[in-house]
Amino acid sequence: MWRDLLHGVRQLAYPNLCLWCRELHDDPAADFCQKCLAEFTTDPEAICPRCCLTVAPQVDVSAGCVQCRDIRFHFESATRLNTYKPPLSDVIVRMKRPPGEDLAESLAKVWADKMAAKMQPLKPDMVMPIPLHWRRRLWRGFNGPNLFAIALASRLRIPCRPRLLRRVRPTPSQTTLTVAQRRDNMRNAFAARKPKELAGKTVILVDDVLTTGSTLSEAAKALKSAGTATVHVAVIARR
Ligand SMILES: [Zn+2]
Ligand SMILES: [Zn+2]
Repeated sequence: MWRDLLHGVRQLAYPNLCLWCRELHDDPAADFCQKCLAEFTTDPEAICPRCCLTVAPQVDVSAGCVQCRDIRFHFESATRLNTYKPPLSDVIVRMKRPPGEDLAESLAKVWADKMAAKMQPLKPDMVMPIPLHWRRRLWRGFNGPNLFAIALASRLRIPCRPRLLRRVRPTPSQTTLTVAQRRDNMRNAFAARKPKELAGKTVILVDDVLTTGSTLSEAAKALKSAGTATVHVAVIARR
């Protein structure tokens, strides 16, 4: 409540202040200035359709890029807003710490607008955030992936169904692990619920950052074993 109040007071005092760089801007409806918005969302690179890594232009990536070609993913495709680099990477780090919730909500809107345009042609039935366990602590009491999933579902006018997938065991932090260790670490970490609601469906799975794809792939595997037909991944950034 205090956070909402402070946000309200700040918006009244400085309605056109960019939430990131603190410069004044012209659009009272926007949370970010044009410069920041462009830096967050301008992604001119060619990307691998399987793992959303930046690839050299004109390289054939129909079967994946050099990084992912030999990895079996349980999701069909992956899309990002941008690469994990400043200023977007700084925004992602800052929004996970208090008082970063305003920032997360504003970035979720920007992200959902961009993602909705890319996801619409895939005819998704529902959106789902990656379930949190140890990461819940990092987000300090608010569920970041859920916030982004809700924003995207609302843009696409389809349901957000966070309860159909759950984490069945805690997994240690992945940051110091190799690719193979990450895969082992995540094995059978997820389980799907209500297979009737998932049967034959196309699901968009949402996470903040894609690093090796092992977490998202394990989650997609659980959805597939419950009968989900197709899983597309949408993230904020690719590391
Ligand atoms: Zn700005
Ligand atoms: Zn790839």
